[in-house]
Amino acid sequence: MTHAPTPTMIHPPKVDSLDSLLPSEPLLMMGAGPVPIPYRVAQANSIVINHLGETMARVIDQLKAMARYVFQTESPWILGVAGPGSAAMEMSVCNLVHPGTRVLCVCNGYFGRRFADMAQRVGGEVEVLTIADGEAATLEEVRDQLERFRPEVLTIAQGETSSTVFNRYLPEIAQLARSHGCYVIVDAVCTLSTMPLKMDAWHIDAVITGGQKGLSSIPGVSLIAFSNRAWERIVARPHAPPQWCLDARLAEQFWHKASYHYTAPVSGILALHEALHLVCTETLPERFARHLRCSIGLQRGIEAMGLRLYSTQASRLNSVVGIEVPNGIDRVEVCKRISDRYRVEISGSFGLNIVRIGQMGEQCRAHNLFRTLHAFGSTMKELGAQVDVAAGVAELERQLQGAL
Ligand SMILES: *Cc1c(COP(=O)(O)O)cnc(C)c1O
Repeated sequence: MTHAPTPTMIHPPKVDSLDSLLPSEPLLMMGAGPVPIPYRVAQANSIVINHLGETMARVIDQLKAMARYVFQTESPWILGVAGPGSAAMEMSVCNLVHPGTRVLCVCNGYFGRRFADMAQRVGGEVEVLTIADGEAATLEEVRDQLERFRPEVLTIAQGETSSTVFNRYLPEIAQLARSHGCYVIVDAVCTLSTMPLKMDAWHIDAVITGGQKGLSSIPGVSLIAFSNRAWERIVARPHAPPQWCLDARLAEQFWHKASYHYTAPVSGILALHEALHLVCTETLPERFARHLRCSIGLQRGIEAMGLRLYSTQASRLNSVVGIEVPNGIDRVEVCKRISDRYRVEISGSFGLNIVRIGQMGEQCRAHNLFRTLHAFGSTMKELGAQVDVAAGVAELERQLQGAL
């Protein structure tokens, strides 16, 4: 007869304290997200309250009202989700796409394809419309697919972070899709509150966003808005989606009926409330102008140094700037060196030979821009690129002063 081995005590591992893991001087987060958070957001993120109390009910009411402003919608159907921007993407997909639903996924890069993957997993019949590198999707390309494939749902990213492409024809594309009876899902993770997006006026049925990019909140709590029309489809759906946590009808319990779905990410919701409050206080027009001024300043500064920007000028995304890495320079080395030497974090890319600097939320502040541009130019110079750091910094100064 064999006996189970006597359980022995499992000992605690030898680990370092968090203090000794974190850099002694904080890194300036200037990549494609997460971005720096304002002090008020950080403070709110340190608080825990009852997830179902009266205070939370008021917080949620205000948060939805502010989100309606930021999404530019009168639809009541604002929901939050405990999870990354991808969870909000998946929530939009699994509640609107059923087995056999025809879905057209406009792809300008990595995140466009993620939608296609998600739609396939819930049984959608998916067509991918792959757009030429560095270009925005055009109305003609989409029209062809709408007429030929007759999709019921269309997915598109307003800004494709991976390739730094801005889908500038989004308003026309969404309107055309709607005229074909199609439900339009827009990924605004990196663009929401950094540039105009008008959910109602552009006939969009679902907009999703994460916390850690345009909104300058923490990662892990995301937002979604459904149009009334989309909500009717959700209510009339043949069966509930397999993703229990992402079921919009269950999320309605917490977000609209002050009752229990799952324990909400209380601190993250408070942080998001503060981030949205800062957007409302600044106002969207002012915030868009700040983002535009800063991003253009950065772009002109980089060009004045002698480096080239990625994606065609007209389709260039302002919220994440892609910079071509000159031959002979390793982009991984660029990111590593600028972090080690200058305590500035920027992003590499998914395959393309570019590095990316974010211009979202708190990244768009003059002091962050000067530090980043100087660090970036110096790094490139140290690695052997032909750059004129001083010319770049002077151009940034000129741009920010508006003295052209
Ligand atoms: C970052 C990003 C996502 C994914 O967000 P996660 O929080 O990483 O899941 C999706 N779409 C776009 C356009 C993004 O920039």
